[in-house]
Amino acid sequence: MPARLPILPGATLGILGGGQLGRMFTVAARTMGYRVMVLDPDPQSPAGQMADVHLQADYTDHGALKKVAEACTAVTTEFENVPAASLVELSRYTRVAPNAEAVAIMQDRSCEKTWLRENGFATAPFALVSNEIELKADATSAGFPAILKVSRFGYDGKGQIRVNSLKDLMSAFAELKGVPCVLEGFVQLASEVSVVLARTDSGECRSWPVGENHHMNGILDTTRVPASVNQSIQERAQITAMQIAGKLGYVGVMAVEFFVDQGGNLLVNEIAPRPHNSGHYTLDACVTDQFEQQVRVLCGLPLGDTRLLSPVVMVNLLGDVWRHGPDWMALLQHPGIKLHLYGKAEARPGRKMGHYNCLAESVDSAASLAAKTREMLGIIPL
Ligand code: AMP
Repeated sequence: MPARLPILPGATLGILGGGQLGRMFTVAARTMGYRVMVLDPDPQSPAGQMADVHLQADYTDHGALKKVAEACTAVTTEFENVPAASLVELSRYTRVAPNAEAVAIMQDRSCEKTWLRENGFATAPFALVSNEIELKADATSAGFPAILKVSRFGYDGKGQIRVNSLKDLMSAFAELKGVPCVLEGFVQLASEVSVVLARTDSGECRSWPVGENHHMNGILDTTRVPASVNQSIQERAQITAMQIAGKLGYVGVMAVEFFVDQGGNLLVNEIAPRPHNSGHYTLDACVTDQFEQQVRVLCGLPLGDTRLLSPVVMVNLLGDVWRHGPDWMALLQHPGIKLHLYGKAEARPGRKMGHYNCLAESVDSAASLAAKTREMLGIIPL
């Protein structure tokens, strides 16, 4: 992309997708003096509540895309399932970052895994499956146990089924309605880590410290920073994430999730073309958070400092917690806790409603505070 003039405060920025990531982008952008237009069909969109303008229309609605293109000096996205064709359409009229090609790779697990393999990045063993014959043939190559995952529209552990035999596999494929899938060998995990980074048009890349992630039922539960995995693994994770962003020619904030196996090998699990749940700790613990950085990259401003200011543990708040009527007063009596709620009216089990960051002198103290408050809120202990 040629060098271009920075987009300065006062301009209008657009975002496709109005979930919590869009909401935190909107807050960051408005804090910096930009106007924000959100495109999301949901009238109760978390980002729409914070935006200057909320266009309630589908992501493929040409009239709505035209309005976005006319009003916005630059446009970004907050979720990978935004149709790549809509980004292409917008990019004819206005600046769009990340670009449609990168988003298209990451929105399809089969494309993503294939791209990673072709570009020399280690992943769990996998096979692409689109019919029963392939399924039978590939079952042997992936081995058991394995996980069958839908290629598109899966998130937070949804659209994936763990299988232990060919019989399981056949019924899992039927349960997933025979859609294209990736069959992935099950990795004996030592830990899971992620790297969130930002890359500019000119190829400057800055990452935040590695997060150590714990999942529950396939959904991120906590992120601990600094991670307790050894330094060499952390350095390799940072380098690999930057290499991936470089090879994609990526512009924007992106996240790379890794498995660490028992031998200390790093396997890329997923890449996301947007800020990431495992980067929410940056909101309170870093000089610049991932959403401010998203604004900076989009606008061609200099990147902010990604330095960690305090050890931190981020705890996700799922709708399940609302069963007990969350006691915010009890949570907030701890002065090191920073609460973020996403403005969602309906608290369904497994739905991400918010998160909180526990800041303390050491990461172990932050983890104790997280454990104590999780228990108080009725979240199942780690
Ligand atoms: P995903 O949606 O693919 O990121 O999967 C959600 C979570 O399920 C991961 O963060 C892991 O905790 C677990 N998981 C997914 N795939 C595998 C695998 N191949 N081996 C071991 N655990 C996995």
